[in-house]
Amino acid sequence: MSAVSTDSAGATASQQAEDDDAGSRASAPLRLMAVHAHPDDESSKGAATMARYAREGVEVLVVTLTGGERGDILNKAMERPEIRADLAAVRRAEMARAREILGVRQEFLGFTDSGLPEGDPLPPLPEGCFALQPLETAARPLVRAVREFRPQVILGYDENGGYPHPDHVKCHQVTIEAFEAAGDPDRYPDCGQPWQPAKLYYFATFHKARLTALHEEMLRRGLKSPYEDWLKEWVDDPDKPGPDITTRVPCADFFDIRDQALLAHATQIDPEGSWFAIPRDVQRAAWPTEDFHLARSVVDTEKPEDDLFAGVRHIVSSTSGRSG
Ligand SMILES: [Zn+2]
Repeated sequence: MSAVSTDSAGATASQQAEDDDAGSRASAPLRLMAVHAHPDDESSKGAATMARYAREGVEVLVVTLTGGERGDILNKAMERPEIRADLAAVRRAEMARAREILGVRQEFLGFTDSGLPEGDPLPPLPEGCFALQPLETAARPLVRAVREFRPQVILGYDENGGYPHPDHVKCHQVTIEAFEAAGDPDRYPDCGQPWQPAKLYYFATFHKARLTALHEEMLRRGLKSPYEDWLKEWVDDPDKPGPDITTRVPCADFFDIRDQALLAHATQIDPEGSWFAIPRDVQRAAWPTEDFHLARSVVDTEKPEDDLFAGVRHIVSSTSGRSG
């Protein structure tokens, strides 16, 4: 498995090296793609990690499957008629600001937000929305984006979507589809030159170990923990164990940037809300990483990892070196 994958990653990296000016070898050909359902998701999952890698010279691209048209206004201060009138445009502007703060590129892939159905029984999903698209239709723009951007590492959602929003679950499905199909010349032949990404990770953001560490650090400092009830009511379900964390990326120096990017999504994020209930120095002390589950890999890597590009860097740099 690893011999085959090294060949394919090596071949593509060598193509990249040819594209590069030999003198600019230092400009890293490492590329990271994060796949998200809505504008604002990129700032609440893995944002400090992206900010860190971007500043280390990695090319980072966020792809956002939908425009977030059906998101609610979750910040009372933004509940104004002119904002309601064109929420899609407002959310695009918010996304542009967040992208600038994070220092990454971003593209919308053009699907329509499915909304979060509420009620009992749940209402049907709105016609034409992302979650109702057949898999191939829903995955096609992502396959094309993967083949164009050629990321070695992709970040996405687990099979539960991280939380049960139909767009997040669909997002998981298309991410798997793109990871598996993008390198196969027989699949999606009209979507560009094949490219096999090396690794696929799932975000692991709200897991029990992290919440517990933050909670305990708050108590230790005599502060009120916002996770008291959450942890008290937490049921450990043996059929649904928490994420198997394979990778912890140190990124505490970028928590400020993450928070600024979140705040840029002003209609979605209440500055008084739970996102900011834990002071940043508590976060830095208690849990200075963002965490991931390595779901697929075509390269050899040793777990636990502290780098999303573990097992990838030497392939990319040795191939670049040959051409320089
Ligand atoms: Zn979302």
